[in-house]
Amino acid sequence: MKIIDIIDKKKKGLELSKEEIHYFVNEYTNGNIPDYQASALLMAMFINKMTPNETANLTLAMAYSGQTLDLSDIEGVKVDKHSTGGVGDKVSLVVAPIVASCGIPVAKMSGRGLGFTGGTIDKLESIEGFKTDMTIDEFKSYVKKHGIVISGQTDELAPADKKIYALRDVTSTVDDISLIAASIMSKKIASGADAIVLDIKVGSGAFMKTIEDAEILAKTMVSIGNSLNRTTICIISSMDEPLGFGIGNIIEVREAIEVLKGNGPKDLVEVCLTISSIMVYLGKKSNSIEEAREIVLKSINDGSAYKKFREWIECQKGKLSVIDNISEYRKASNIDIFVAKEEGYISSINAQEIGKVAMLLGAGRETKESIIDPSVGLIFEKKVSDYVRAGDVICQIHHNNYGNIDMIMEHLNKNINISEQKQTKSELIYKIIK
Ligand code: URA
Repeated sequence: MKIIDIIDKKKKGLELSKEEIHYFVNEYTNGNIPDYQASALLMAMFINKMTPNETANLTLAMAYSGQTLDLSDIEGVKVDKHSTGGVGDKVSLVVAPIVASCGIPVAKMSGRGLGFTGGTIDKLESIEGFKTDMTIDEFKSYVKKHGIVISGQTDELAPADKKIYALRDVTSTVDDISLIAASIMSKKIASGADAIVLDIKVGSGAFMKTIEDAEILAKTMVSIGNSLNRTTICIISSMDEPLGFGIGNIIEVREAIEVLKGNGPKDLVEVCLTISSIMVYLGKKSNSIEEAREIVLKSINDGSAYKKFREWIECQKGKLSVIDNISEYRKASNIDIFVAKEEGYISSINAQEIGKVAMLLGAGRETKESIIDPSVGLIFEKKVSDYVRAGDVICQIHHNNYGNIDMIMEHLNKNINISEQKQTKSELIYKIIK
């Protein structure tokens, strides 16, 4: 088999065989196909699209390109959760302890942030001491003992995705439904999940810009999951404005704690309750998602979810006093405010551009090598459809002597719009697809 023939076949829009896809994935992962040929093939896949068969074969080839995690010695249904990524998305920090407190083992591997989206691992590491690097044995021992663990991704699981994703990132081939589906599902399958809940973000701050595309992505992933005996449920949720009020690592940890204590912004709470309920249902602790929601609410209201959160932070060596005592949070040295220039209703807050502002302040990575500043970010005081008078604070900018705050203000000004008429907010959760 020759890679040039595979590129040529896909260039002509023909369907690749299972063998051809496996050949590409294995040989590229092993370093036997150069980046320029892999890039050409990815672009041909992007332009000519892949059939359901090709997508399923690509997923399997990537899932088994390295080690796979065997969690069968951990009792219970292991339910994993993944979001396609957004701004202010701290949902994993909330749902993991809720679900674990309901008796479902949470053994999750998460990623770091890149570009305008944040990553769960960066958020957790903003808690002093918190350890996300561990061996597979340690990973398993945490779940067995505490029912919860979130670690960084190991290089051994789905290494093909790591390499292909990095190449897609620099060849403008990320936002393709088949490539995204194969990338996400390969990691979930390699990391040993029995059941999977996927939060597909749609809107200005997401890869999927339309509900139609989000729905095709959802159906693609549900069908891949189900064909491999991993029950998969997707929710499609809005990422038109940042989720919750806070963007930035320790800022998001603080907001997650508020939700676990029964408070927190309405939109964030709703996404967390929906995802936790589906996970509890898939974990076979209820007969329906509605019944699961009651179980979830009880675990928040009686304090078990927060108790499990503390246990989790402590077991992964995070400093508990930081969690318990607001004065111990790492704080930025400066807080500036961005105020409304005119009276009216906030009509839009462009999530992607707000994510870029947080990244510029140091909350995210511009390149893989950038160093994260855990303390910086934005805290919104108003959301879309809120009424403001001129001079009202829309958001706080937490930074450490950022050199060009005028540019930040200018960027916020361009991406937060106010109109005379109150506009209806977009739906928060559009659909649940099983
Ligand atoms: N998240 C992933 O893990 N992969 C993609 O391709 C897109 C989002």
